[in-house]
Amino acid sequence: MNFEVKHCPCGAEIIWASTKANKAMPVNAEVAEGGNVLLSERPHREPLAEVLEVTALDAHPGRLRLSHFATCRFAEQFRKTATVRRRKPAREGSS
Ligand SMILES: [Zn+2]
Repeated sequence: MNFEVKHCPCGAEIIWASTKANKAMPVNAEVAEGGNVLLSERPHREPLAEVLEVTALDAHPGRLRLSHFATCRFAEQFRKTATVRRRKPAREGSS
């Protein structure tokens, strides 16, 4: 899988994805032990980021990443831009 890697202003390599609710979400480019974000490729748009339940993590060994929100010192800035179009909180992960 080839995701487009960008550089965050903090210097980290990140992948811009979006959630099912169409919220932009920067994800660390490196897969990480303890990661809980699954990226899926989508044609002609940014990857889909799904934050998995703890119980679902084992199904995707070596493929999970961490939200860059967790580690970035510019996280506040991201959150502001990501919540411009405020709507009711979307329920995610339940099916
Ligand atoms: Zn950053």
